[in-house]
Amino acid sequence: MLTNKIEKNEFRLADEAAGLLEMQLAEWEFLKANYEKLADIIAKEIRYEDYKFIALHNPERIKSTAADVSDSGIKNRKCFLCKENLPVEQRGIVYDKKYYLLCNPYPVVGKHYTIVKLKHMPQQIVGNIEDLLDLTRHMSKYFTLFYNGPKCGASAPDHMHFQAIEKKKMPLEDDFKKLIGDSRNFRIDKSRISITAAETYPGKPVIVESEHKGEILKAFRTILNGLKKIYEPKEEPMINIVSTYEGNKWSLFIFPRREHRPAEFYSGELIVSPAALDMAGLVIVPRKEDLDKIDRDKLIDIYKQVSFTKEYYEFLKKKLFEKYIRV
Ligand SMILES: [Zn+2]
Repeated sequence: MLTNKIEKNEFRLADEAAGLLEMQLAEWEFLKANYEKLADIIAKEIRYEDYKFIALHNPERIKSTAADVSDSGIKNRKCFLCKENLPVEQRGIVYDKKYYLLCNPYPVVGKHYTIVKLKHMPQQIVGNIEDLLDLTRHMSKYFTLFYNGPKCGASAPDHMHFQAIEKKKMPLEDDFKKLIGDSRNFRIDKSRISITAAETYPGKPVIVESEHKGEILKAFRTILNGLKKIYEPKEEPMINIVSTYEGNKWSLFIFPRREHRPAEFYSGELIVSPAALDMAGLVIVPRKEDLDKIDRDKLIDIYKQVSFTKEYYEFLKKKLFEKYIRV
């Protein structure tokens, strides 16, 4: 059942979302049970240079981590984000007549939402990036938004969606000030926008910060066009995005990817399937034994396998330099 809400007070969405979860916890046994299981999550802190990483053992996430997102896998199942296939208990808040905001029945950590396009259409960032920025702002009282590309983390690559979790659950949200201040990283600092190619961080994000939505959109286009020269031309470049809004300013963390999963996933040695949260330092480990196995060296090696190569990064920096510095 979907409640249609037209937001007058735009920042109220975060409170509405919190209220929705409270209501759903009281009436939806399955959701409540999964939220109760969050208390059993075991976390392990790993440090690399000045940065913090948290490996989280959450057994309920195996479904998502090991999801079959191949074309045949998708064809053989009903789309679980389409309205007619949602659990009967699921309620949602309609946002901007385009999305519904739903409680994710398999929370990773804390309050977790999926924000789903009303219409069944493929996961893609082009045409939807502005919605991500608007949602980030409207949810910013309590939440951080994220996007997983269809080939690097989205468990429903056939149905457009974003996700939201509570702010500051991803270690990068705290560490990013260190990154933008690190002189080893290439940085463009203009009056209306800053862009940092944060190579010193293992997930290698490009961080775009601005108070102006138009500037973010322009920078995003530049980055995406640069990436399109590297990836298959007809496909969306593999990216994860984390999006925050603080003090009237957006910070967009774009993680260009080279691989969906590390070799250890396919060999069965270590089940991790990095998506936006993992790239931002919150590494989901669905098997208990993997939590013991994962250490600093293993983690850094995994990031190396799935994040951008040095050569590609140089190319992207050149594109940004040409657009913003060489005039
Ligand atoms: Zn669908």
